[in-house]
Amino acid sequence: MKRRDFIKGAGVASAATAAAVSFPKPALSQGIKQIKMVTTWPKNFPGLGTTASRLANRITSMSGGSLTVKVFAANELVPAFESFDAVSSGTADMYHAAEYYWQGKSKAFNFFAAVPYGLTATEQSAWINHGGGQQLWDEVGKQFGIKSFMAGNTGVQMGGWFNKEVNSLEDYKGLKIRMPGLGGEVLRRIGAAAVSLPGGEIFPALQSGAIDATEWVGPWNDLAFGFYKVTKYYYYPGFHEPGTTLSSSMNLKTWEGLSSEHKAIVQAAMSAENDVALAEFNARNNGALTTLINKHKVKVRKFSNGVMNAIGKASGEVVAEAGASDKITGKVYDSFRNFRKESIAWSKLSDQAYWEARLLPFKYGK
Ligand code: CA
Repeated sequence: MKRRDFIKGAGVASAATAAAVSFPKPALSQGIKQIKMVTTWPKNFPGLGTTASRLANRITSMSGGSLTVKVFAANELVPAFESFDAVSSGTADMYHAAEYYWQGKSKAFNFFAAVPYGLTATEQSAWINHGGGQQLWDEVGKQFGIKSFMAGNTGVQMGGWFNKEVNSLEDYKGLKIRMPGLGGEVLRRIGAAAVSLPGGEIFPALQSGAIDATEWVGPWNDLAFGFYKVTKYYYYPGFHEPGTTLSSSMNLKTWEGLSSEHKAIVQAAMSAENDVALAEFNARNNGALTTLINKHKVKVRKFSNGVMNAIGKASGEVVAEAGASDKITGKVYDSFRNFRKESIAWSKLSDQAYWEARLLPFKYGK
């Protein structure tokens, strides 16, 4: 090192020392909080891992760094399905996941992610924000020491990937299908063998033949996992997840310990992410579907009305049984069922009527 550089370096060091002296308070006493977020998703997985990261970055930047969120993908701090316990116990401060993964804790959690033949994304948001859903979610979460928020939505999911055509209920008999939540239980009722696997474990299971079929999310996410390399039949619609809410939950003590400013920032960031993530799923699914069909020669199939009707009946039974599992889940179920009934009445005259009209064979411009 030249002497001149050494002197320059020494100058920088002494300036840094002076800066440190002029800011004597340690960071934590100035109210800076470091928050650990665990997730159930593979690192930066499109739409899921990236939603978690965007949420973390949004909270960090909105707070000017005074609430800094560090994201841990599945298995980086804890395995995917241990995220709930990690946050409940305080090992981590928050998670990003889908609540049906926690149905072993309480069946009520299913209703805050998606239930078979339940609500669409917009209906779910209406129920949580303006139909009493959030209050019930808080009541359920309190039992486990967590505070939950909607933080993304996948929209209507696809029915799944099959290694053969499924034209009747008979074709489901004995099929080993990856499907989490109450949807998996519905499949068991119609004779299939359903299992729940974290995302990262699906492709190897499909490839080895450990499972015959799987659902994941929709074209964008399913293309990323490469299921088309093993199976070619891609069915729709996903009865089991008509608008899956992604959620982010905070350890209740951590949440209660936040300043009112930080609480408002977290709430606003969650709300923003809920909208932005849904928009991204809808935008990217379009292109991914085209790629799957044209480039990877995937055969898209619609479930028959016969299959959908039988699955609908089984869904109603499974959801009602889940609702009867304990008192608080019963309250959630009653609220959800009433809201679903009202939503169907309105959707028939609004979204549904419009979508049907849009498919009429008129020419639209050029
Ligand atoms: Ca799914």
